[in-house]
Amino acid sequence: MIHEVIPVGWLQCNCSIVGDEASGEAVVIDPGDEIEHIQEVLRRHNLRVRYIIATHAHIDHVGGIEKLQKATGAAVGLHAADLPLYRNLAAQAAWLGVKPPGTVVIDQILKEGDRLRAGPLSLEVFHTPGHSPGSLSLYLEGEQPRIFSGDTLFQGSVGRTDLWGGSYEQLLRSIAGTLFLFPDETPVFPGHGLATTIGRERESNPFLRNFSQSR
Ligand SMILES: [Zn+2]
Ligand SMILES: [Zn+2]
Repeated sequence: MIHEVIPVGWLQCNCSIVGDEASGEAVVIDPGDEIEHIQEVLRRHNLRVRYIIATHAHIDHVGGIEKLQKATGAAVGLHAADLPLYRNLAAQAAWLGVKPPGTVVIDQILKEGDRLRAGPLSLEVFHTPGHSPGSLSLYLEGEQPRIFSGDTLFQGSVGRTDLWGGSYEQLLRSIAGTLFLFPDETPVFPGHGLATTIGRERESNPFLRNFSQSR
C-alpha cells in the first residue's frame, strides 16, 4: 500500500494520498491546495484517483478539489451536513482574505457507514461532527489500518469549534464515542500536524481526560 501525507497550503492541511500498487487505484483525502505537488506524487506511483474525499468543507481542505477533479475525473465525496459550508466557500475565502477557489458538483454525498473502494482498499465513513456539522473520519480497513481524523482529533489536541456550526460538546462526543472505540494501536492521521495513535490520545489528550471522567 502507498500512503503519502503532504502538508498543503499556508494552513498546512495534511493531504493524504492512499493507493494500491497492483490495481493502480487511489483515494485523495483533503486536497486543500498544491495540486501540482499532489499530481506529481500520483504520477510517481502511477496512480489513478477513484475518489477525492473531504473530511469537511473548510477551505484549507477543499480549496484544491476543483483543480484535482478536473485533472483526474474522480468522484468527489463530502458529508451532506457540510454542503452549505462548501456552497459558501466564497465567504470562507473572504473571511481569510484569499481568492475564492472554484467548486464542483459533489458526486458522493457521504454518510455514516458508507464504504468507498479503490482496488482492494476500503474506507469506511464515520460521521464525527463538532468541528463542523459534516465532519467525518475515515477508517481504512485491512492489514495496515488507519484513521483519517480530519480536524476532529489532533495529536494532543482537538479541532476548534468556534467556526460555522461548530460544537465543542459534539466534538468531544464524536471522539470519545466513535474514534476511541478503535483499538489502541490504530494509527491516526489528523488534518494538521503529526500522526498519533488512538491509545496515545486516549491516555494523554488533555481535552478528553475530563470529558471521559465525567461520563
Ligand atoms: Zn477545519
Ligand atoms: Zn484544517
